[in-house]
Amino acid sequence: MNILVLNCGSSSVKFQLLDMTEERLLAKGLVERIGAGQARVKYKTPAGKLTREPNEITNHTTAVAYVLELLTKGGQAVVDSLDDIAAVGHRVVHGGERFADSTLITDEVYGKIEDCIPLAPLHNPANLKGVDAVTDILPRAPQVAVFDTAFHQTMPETSYLYALPRWTYERYRIRRYGFHGTSHRYVAARCAEKMGLPVNKDEGTPKLVTCHLGNGASVAAVMGGESVDTSMGFTPLEGLVMGSRCGDIDPAIPLFLQNKENLDAKEVDALLNRQSGVRGLSDGKYIDMRDIEDRYFENDPECVRILQIYCYRITKYIGAYAAAMGGLDAVVFTAGVGENSPIARTLTCKPLAFLGLELDESLNTDKAHPGSGYEGPVTTPDSGVAVWVVPTNEELVIARDTRAICAG
Ligand code: ADP
Repeated sequence: MNILVLNCGSSSVKFQLLDMTEERLLAKGLVERIGAGQARVKYKTPAGKLTREPNEITNHTTAVAYVLELLTKGGQAVVDSLDDIAAVGHRVVHGGERFADSTLITDEVYGKIEDCIPLAPLHNPANLKGVDAVTDILPRAPQVAVFDTAFHQTMPETSYLYALPRWTYERYRIRRYGFHGTSHRYVAARCAEKMGLPVNKDEGTPKLVTCHLGNGASVAAVMGGESVDTSMGFTPLEGLVMGSRCGDIDPAIPLFLQNKENLDAKEVDALLNRQSGVRGLSDGKYIDMRDIEDRYFENDPECVRILQIYCYRITKYIGAYAAAMGGLDAVVFTAGVGENSPIARTLTCKPLAFLGLELDESLNTDKAHPGSGYEGPVTTPDSGVAVWVVPTNEELVIARDTRAICAG
């Protein structure tokens, strides 16, 4: 059974085609700059890769049609026809309070995803364009929505309610939702399985903190297989220091700046979401953690400071979540920085030695080096808290959920 996984952004479509009989990747790629004149298409199979810059990709439907053509026709095809694509799984960013699980997209579900647009005005409309495109081109294929927010729907009120007037929740559903749920769910389950820790919801074991450190970054407290807290909130702005997002700040700061600098709401939004984080701390010079790391090792004081601030925030969250869960069995690092940055793991974990956490520097640096794809522990066998690196695989989770739902 071949499943197409789509992750549709406002001007891009990322895709993977997986043979789910063996959980094997057949092809993957990306269409960028949709509707911007000349699009860029990257396509990769085990046999090779290609890049093209077609003119005819004006919207998501033509983008999906282009992808399906690559997958089914010509020398780079990996299946014979559209009939070989049994189902499509979509990454959908926001499921609000309506979706705690992945679900088959019916007309009713489509409407409910539309209802969540006010909560994710940039993302959900793009995700739905992907659904529309598949409905046009592959009308017989069942489609499944896998939500970024769903895994965190198990959070208790104590975690998700903000201390704002009650009407803000009742009128606008302002609360913590959390994101990267598919990734937190995958790495938490994988770590528990690989460590041989049985997952027991009633006993709340194991107690894990998962750190998804990509361009966007979040931490989750996962207890007995369920998310009980997470650092991203009503939007993906809260929590950790990110590439260009500030994460936690005093909420009075935007108001102060608005007054002093005469900024309108859009400008404040850009300041917090696009001009802050690593980019802001470096005065706009860097956004990529690799640049910070390289200069950290050259003792550039600015980059030393930035990496320390970045990691300190993660350490604080791990400590807070250990307290929230009343214990900690393991910390899991994943995504671009989490998987590839030994120094970020070291700086984050060193202050946690009081928990008995003991990094194994040869595992952390030599085994789990950038690009190694290492999956395993980076602590000593006697460490009081285990630290694991687990490469995330959100597309596989989407394909598995799609298979399970379509198999009925
Ligand atoms: P996203 O999917 O959110 O765009 P990724 O999970 O691909 O993010 O992670 C992107 C981040 O990972 C970038 O900040 C990048 O610099 C960082 N990254 C990738 N490789 C390394 C590395 N070797 N060392 C440090 N950071 C890295």
